[in-house]
Amino acid sequence: MRRPMIAGNWKMNTTAAEAETLVRGLCSLVADVTDVDILVAPPFVYLQLVKALIADSPVALAAQDMSPEKSGPWTGEVSGPMLKDVGCTYVIIGHSERRQFFFETDESVNKKVHAALNEGLAPIVCVGETLEERKKGVTLSLVGRQVKNGLAEVTAGHASEVTIAYEPLWAIGTGVTASPEEAEEVHSAIREVLRELFGADIVGNMRILYGGSVKPDNVDELMSRPNIDGALVGGASLTAESFARIVRFEAIS
Ligand code: PEP
Repeated sequence: MRRPMIAGNWKMNTTAAEAETLVRGLCSLVADVTDVDILVAPPFVYLQLVKALIADSPVALAAQDMSPEKSGPWTGEVSGPMLKDVGCTYVIIGHSERRQFFFETDESVNKKVHAALNEGLAPIVCVGETLEERKKGVTLSLVGRQVKNGLAEVTAGHASEVTIAYEPLWAIGTGVTASPEEAEEVHSAIREVLRELFGADIVGNMRILYGGSVKPDNVDELMSRPNIDGALVGGASLTAESFARIVRFEAIS
């Protein structure tokens, strides 16, 4: 069985003081959780602060993005070795906000995936369609292409370190969630693509998260679907209580 993962993407939110309050609250609410991988992805400038606060807790540290380069004249960028250095174990790559507003492409996502894996950081690779693309009926082909291109040349040996996050753009930050059926349909298509790429044994270990307005009141139903292995949470990760409730989901059987 795949171990569930619940990841909180704080995006460009919190001050240092708010980050501290949030992470202290979260750590106390999830201190006894042993069966879920719990991640927070604060802004770069608070990674070190948060790392110190999650010591001795089940919470792990993720970055929201990374450079494909190791070091050098790349003003404003943050590299994989730097993220390792401050205690990150995961990195979100290709979030739709990066694709939409910072011109990320499947090719740049792929470079970052390789850079992360080479550094020993586990990538969480985001894919998803716009509302227009969904209406055109191209969701499965588009998401399949994003997965294939984003993971090009990733070896089967590295594949189980990779997590995919399916995040339909129309559900991110909108309060509209994909129904469990809509999400499961795409997750199962993604798993099929991963099976083609890496084989049946490995795909059984690969996690596919759902993201898009996940909240305490919809997580249980989402997590009851066989191919939904966790959640990437934006807005609801900014409150310790709501994120902790999502971590403590109860799949409906
Ligand atoms: C996200 O940005 O990854 C996300 C899923 O945001 P929200 O939960 O706020 O929709």
